[in-house]
Amino acid sequence: MLNDALPKYFDPRKYASQELTLEGGVPLKNFKELSAILASDEGNVLIHLNFRVDEDRRYIATGSITAQVQVVCQRCMGPVPHDLAVDLSLAFVYDEDHAKNLPEIYDPVVMTDGEVILADMVEQEIILALPIVAYHEESGCNPTAVKYASSTDDAPDDEKPNPFSILAQLKAKKS
Ligand SMILES: [Zn+2]
Repeated sequence: MLNDALPKYFDPRKYASQELTLEGGVPLKNFKELSAILASDEGNVLIHLNFRVDEDRRYIATGSITAQVQVVCQRCMGPVPHDLAVDLSLAFVYDEDHAKNLPEIYDPVVMTDGEVILADMVEQEIILALPIVAYHEESGCNPTAVKYASSTDDAPDDEKPNPFSILAQLKAKKS
């Protein structure tokens, strides 16, 4: 469901006053900073934002960013699938001072010359929403690889799966 309808830049004031919707997909590999911290840059980010002017005349966008990404398991350094679904309530402001005066329900996005670079905004929202550390379920993890991948890894002992807990998980596995 990719399309070319997403603009590179947009003017939130225009979008809000006309109550426009931004909707479309962007390949993950377009986000350089984000790709660098993920295990893979395969896939797409879907963006859906509805713009409006609220009762206090703020320029608002609500909606979501969704994507399936591969984060890095901190135990075996392998990829872990992670479903991202970020709900957004954004308020577009001219500077940091305006941002401080916003109600807490809104995340501020500072406009530059009245415009916002869509990819930068989306990328920052995704990075903020990523799990700080990610691990496989123990049964899906391959921690023996970690000895080679990272010799300085000093995860606490109780983080390491043992054969008995894996057995217990297999026995307890739900259908
Ligand atoms: Zn793992």
